[in-house]
Amino acid sequence: MNISIIGSGYVGLVTGACFAELGNRVICADNDIKKIAHLKKGIIPIYEPGLEELVAHNVKKKRLRFSSSIKDAVKNSEIIFIAVGTPALENGEADLTGIENVARNIAMNMTSYRLIVEKSTVPVETGEWLKRTISTYIKRKIEFDVASNPEFLREGQAINDFMHPDRIVIGVESKRAKEVLTNLYKPLNAPIVTTNIKSAELIKHACNAFLANKISFINAISRICDKVGADVKEVADGMGLDKRIGASFLNAGVGYGGSCFPKDVDAFIKISEKLGYDFALLKAVKNINEEQKDFILKKLKDILWIVKDKTIGVLGLSFKPNTDDIRNAPSLDLINALQTEGAKIKVYDPQAMEKAKGILRQVRFCQDPYEVCRGSDCLLIVTEWDEFKELDFAKVKKLLKRPFIVDGRNIYEPQKLKKQGFTYIGIGRKGYE
Ligand code: NAD
Repeated sequence: MNISIIGSGYVGLVTGACFAELGNRVICADNDIKKIAHLKKGIIPIYEPGLEELVAHNVKKKRLRFSSSIKDAVKNSEIIFIAVGTPALENGEADLTGIENVARNIAMNMTSYRLIVEKSTVPVETGEWLKRTISTYIKRKIEFDVASNPEFLREGQAINDFMHPDRIVIGVESKRAKEVLTNLYKPLNAPIVTTNIKSAELIKHACNAFLANKISFINAISRICDKVGADVKEVADGMGLDKRIGASFLNAGVGYGGSCFPKDVDAFIKISEKLGYDFALLKAVKNINEEQKDFILKKLKDILWIVKDKTIGVLGLSFKPNTDDIRNAPSLDLINALQTEGAKIKVYDPQAMEKAKGILRQVRFCQDPYEVCRGSDCLLIVTEWDEFKELDFAKVKKLLKRPFIVDGRNIYEPQKLKKQGFTYIGIGRKGYE
């Protein structure tokens, strides 16, 4: 099939490369001219394992190309996926200006039937607006369909998630759209959930809200664990073995971040409000997440007393491992709060430092975890990269000014570190500290 993807970011590029790998002819388009120029030269603007190779392979096979012209994309493909960003406005609502802009552009360049698919995460009823906008700006009477096909890939394992999804959700309103999308996804051999457009839009928001809910729930439990000397990891293990609950997303820590959960939770609260429903549960999820950062800061102060003029060594900037994405990363808020109190920051992240250099000021970026430790008053773990799990602790102890570790992701065994002479502070693990 001839497909175009408008918006060549984390989702658009992965989607485009994977559809090409499945044998389709794909155009990845974007209005960021520099990004497209880089992509044409084989430079991938993001770090995503396996993506560079997949893109190169499909470009070589002439199944994938890049374009900064939406006209080109619309003209040369029957299916058009919209994968532009839908960031949060200041009031928490989703900013849909990118979606609207693309919809107008598609309408003005359409010459025959097109299937326009929402891939971006959008509030329920965006599909209605899409249809209305395209009908308004279309030049003459041309048939088209709108569909919703939310994306569930996770950064860091995006290609595998795309190629082996738990399910594919397609929200459609015509037989034709259903057939086209079902055929397109057939090679993946995954269960396809077919709904109407509004249900599909809601499935995505409901999933992200539910996962954020699990994280905030276990973080709330970690607070109680700290008070009574229980271990949240043991509690989570005991809960997770219950098939009705499941073990995933039950890791207590610094709270959720990234480009999806915070904005999608906000957008879901806002759209519910607009529809006349006060989603109090989600508001609590958001509050617990915010408080979790204060909880970490309090832990630092519990061992350092005064933070001013102390050096805090931070391990991890990306919002989760195996990505360079620092959008809404908890690391940024924590570093900001520590700097506001006068702390000096040394930091290392395997992939996210380039992006962070554009945002963080007066931070010392280090070559490796040991350089971070040298002369720091405390080590703070913010992202659970594998390489932080296997440190040489004898060396870490020698390099740190004081053997203090605040483990914001519970990646270490408290008793092991205690034996090695560290003061170890985890999240909800007081019983073992
Ligand atoms: P991104 O910021 O990495 O990429 C968006 C791209 O769209 C950018 O390259 C930008 O230049 C381009 N763009 C913006 N406006 C445009 C316009 N008018 N015309 C053409 N291009 C335009 O964002 P992302 O992380 O890929 O997310 C895209 C959407 O997918 C969002 O709605 C997000 O919530 C959703 N999503 C993201 C993930 C994820 O893990 N990142 C997972 C599932 C769903």
